[in-house]
Amino acid sequence: MAAFKRFKSIRIFNNYKYSPQIYSKRNLNLQEYHSKDLLRKHQVSIQNFRLIDSSLDPKSLAGFKADEYVVKAQILAGGRGKGHFDNGFKGGVHLTKNPNDILDLAKKMIGHKLITKQTPKDGILVNKVMVAESVNIMRETYLSIVMERTYNGAALVASPAGGMDIENVAEKTPHLVKTVPIDIHEGITDKVAKEVAEFLDFKGDMVAKCAEEIKKIWQLFLKVDATQLEINPLVETDDGRVVAVDAKINFDDNAEFRQKEIFALDDTSGTDPREREAATLNLTYIDMDGNIGCMVNGAGLAMATMDLIMLSGGRPANFLDLGGGVGQAQVSAALRILESDPKVKAIFVNVFAGIVNCATVASGIVAACKENMPKHPLVIRLEGTNSTLAKKILEESGLPFKIINDADEAAKTAVKLAQ
Ligand code: GDP
Ligand code: MG
Repeated sequence: MAAFKRFKSIRIFNNYKYSPQIYSKRNLNLQEYHSKDLLRKHQVSIQNFRLIDSSLDPKSLAGFKADEYVVKAQILAGGRGKGHFDNGFKGGVHLTKNPNDILDLAKKMIGHKLITKQTPKDGILVNKVMVAESVNIMRETYLSIVMERTYNGAALVASPAGGMDIENVAEKTPHLVKTVPIDIHEGITDKVAKEVAEFLDFKGDMVAKCAEEIKKIWQLFLKVDATQLEINPLVETDDGRVVAVDAKINFDDNAEFRQKEIFALDDTSGTDPREREAATLNLTYIDMDGNIGCMVNGAGLAMATMDLIMLSGGRPANFLDLGGGVGQAQVSAALRILESDPKVKAIFVNVFAGIVNCATVASGIVAACKENMPKHPLVIRLEGTNSTLAKKILEESGLPFKIINDADEAAKTAVKLAQ
């Protein structure tokens, strides 16, 4: 599902695709510079940095001096180092010793789309560039802390072979990846921090330095209600420091009420406009690559609907989850969002109502269609609360809906009509 391919992290040991964390109303995405602000606040070692925006104002670099600079495109996706821009410029991460090159590099990135293996095919527009004091890297390691269902809690994932090839490392040399379950109450003990630092191949007094960083990273993980905090790479520098060079954090959206400051940083510029519009209506929209627009209620029914469509030989274009307790106006807006997706060739409404009222859904659909009848056929299956009244509303509207009670048959019809 493209919605989460966009900011996929290296979740080494888990099938990311159907993670409930992703299927959430508020999938908070922070740019690298915001994540690094959080790391700094928690005393994790990072590089000093400045930001350049589309004004390309040289003043943003005033007083910023380093032997070498690293210039990094800020997008909500990884793999930037190996990416390329729509203007042909290669690499979203560049090193330079010459301060006069920085704005030129930024100019090649800002206003252009960066394409990486984690972005949509046509890339993500770069609005900001980070300029950091480059560090001389001796070794790149991988460290992440993630909430992992297998352990009913947090786990630390570490590899001495971090950096841009971590996916290959996980696949081809799994013995180089270590996973350590962490007791949420006990936290990362000195002993575990030291063991992991040693596994990361730090030697001598570097072990204690790395262990310190690991413990601070854990404190941050707890403090911000993260579900995943990934540092790739966590590097060893030639002057004996351990530095977090890249950072990506996912947050638990159930904690939004106590992490207001962080959630206020949400950058939606890279997200699908339909996803954004749905979020403002308190609905969840997920973009996919087929041609059937789906309106459903609940994540479970969304998955079942996807199966039904696929088993009937079709593919969903998207999902709009109405959730529970949806109102008529939201249903109307939801239908318009689905219809605005140019991939959509048929719309399948599959609602199994408990809390949701089928009559409300039917009225919402009829209202939207009376105002503007969708160009594409609408297959509607409404079961559960008030379904009899709902059918009456749909039938009496005189609009050309395909009202089908049986879910299998409805899915088959939608697939046929989409062809
Ligand atoms: P990603 O490609 O999106 O994961 O971006 P990263 O921030 O991880 O950078 C990609 C790669 O660029 C890293 O793995 C490093 O090899 C390299 N890199 C990033 N920052 C620096 C730096 O300050 N100095 C040096 N020498 N290399 C860097
Ligand atoms: Mg990285």
